[in-house]
Amino acid sequence: MREITHLLANDVTMPGAVSGRIGDVFDPNNGVVQAQVTLGDKALLDRAVAVAKAAQPAWAATNPQRRARIMFAFKALVEKNMDELAHMLSSEHGKVIADAKGDIQRGLEVIEFCCGIPHALKGEYTYGAGPGIDVYSMRMPLGIGAGITPFNFPAMIPMWMFGPAIATGNAFILKPSERDPSVPVRLAELMLEAGLPEGILQVLHGDKEMVDAILDHPDIKGVSFVGSSDIAHYVYKRGVDAGKRVQAMGGAKNHGIVMPDADLDQVVNDLSGAAFGSAGERCMALPVVTPVGEKTANALREKLIPAIEGLRVGISTDEEAHYGPVVTASHKAKVEQWIQTGVDEGAELVVDGRGFKLQGHEDGFFVGPSLFDHVKPTMQSYKEEIFGPVLQMVRAESFEEALALPSQHQYGNGVAIFTRNGHAAREFAARVDVGMVGINVPIPVPVAYHTFGGWKRSAFGDTNQHGMEGVKFWTKVKTITQRWPDGSPDGSNAFVIPTMG
Ligand code: NAD
Repeated sequence: MREITHLLANDVTMPGAVSGRIGDVFDPNNGVVQAQVTLGDKALLDRAVAVAKAAQPAWAATNPQRRARIMFAFKALVEKNMDELAHMLSSEHGKVIADAKGDIQRGLEVIEFCCGIPHALKGEYTYGAGPGIDVYSMRMPLGIGAGITPFNFPAMIPMWMFGPAIATGNAFILKPSERDPSVPVRLAELMLEAGLPEGILQVLHGDKEMVDAILDHPDIKGVSFVGSSDIAHYVYKRGVDAGKRVQAMGGAKNHGIVMPDADLDQVVNDLSGAAFGSAGERCMALPVVTPVGEKTANALREKLIPAIEGLRVGISTDEEAHYGPVVTASHKAKVEQWIQTGVDEGAELVVDGRGFKLQGHEDGFFVGPSLFDHVKPTMQSYKEEIFGPVLQMVRAESFEEALALPSQHQYGNGVAIFTRNGHAAREFAARVDVGMVGINVPIPVPVAYHTFGGWKRSAFGDTNQHGMEGVKFWTKVKTITQRWPDGSPDGSNAFVIPTMG
């Protein structure tokens, strides 16, 4: 059985540092265990942190331009290895190859931003803030940062975190999802190949035990987490209690509002990809569609049914497949259970994806596409995240009712409105209580130089991922007030708080 181990600086891999616990990594196309991942413990983390602590000051003292050159070299290496990485990712996650490449590419765009880190780190300077006095600020690294990542973007989300953390001069410990851990390790190997000094990026596998050890470790100063909301909340509270800076992104239930004037063919095309792409396992998927008005709802339903029934579910290397399997058998069971809950709650199951079997891959974790109509906001299957290939139609009578649905939902990650009416779109974008809004854009994941982050139970902490928010999260500001007196007495009263008046 293939073993996936931690990526540690050389002197950390000493006997006795590994817990002996392992986790299964599946091939979701066939339902078999393809590898085992070694799960680490506190003792291992302690050693890794000690190495990181020793390596970090020299890295922080390396000028930003040199640090940026490593980012450039890394980007070139990832591009060179794109096919290998995409196949590796797809084989553990189950997303189709083109989508796996998108996962890697979106992460690389954050690395491209990090190539400009010298510019982003320039501080502020005020000459002559008082007599002979100048004030300036510097952004200093936190020291050691850690990232805890979910299974659904095993390339992009680690890069969201380690790119800005390392570019700003921190050492970084990555704890990727134990369900698809190979790509994060490979990315870290490529960072070392690009010239990153040993100890600045280490990958430690694990589960709750390792997460808790990270949250409690006094030398880890910042933690970035992405995953489900209950765990995000837990991570946030425990990390903040331990005195750390924490950003913790959680789950989602994104709505697509369809106004009566929308181009329905375009909407159906956009919704098919946004609801079912990656088997719905995206935090920016659109699992809820809200048409405004009965006429819009009926027309949309009529067009959606054949589009959904025509989706091709296939193994992740099938170039014709729209989407592949979900990540594990237990996740498949959970998605199918949510479909049953929707039925029990009285929603109309128009297309039923349960019990789907792919010929020749009967043990794979496939779920066919499902469509519900007449879903009500009071239903549990609407309130919670399903994270599978299930689209729920919640009809609204008016723009105001449609606006209220995502605004009142517990999650506030993303939302989209489809319309030709600029005024309605502008009004919606300003008033909806959600962090990321798409106007005729079904998956409004902001570009790398803007920032990513939801509202309400979709994110705990107040700093977003990547862009300048990422730089801010991984640095602390030091402000220096300096005076170079010319020797003559300035006549001020040293017992009074100095003012610039
Ligand atoms: P998850 O919460 O199960 O796991 C995320 C991480 O937490 C993993 O590294 C895992 O090892 C760790 N973990 C699991 N259980 C833990 C526990 N009890 N205590 C401490 N740590 C624990 O999430 P997942 O299933 O890997 O990912 C899917 C979830 O992530 C979905 O809810 C999705 O919406 C969310 N997500 C959110 C965003 C965002 O930016 N808001 C992006 C991607 C995914």
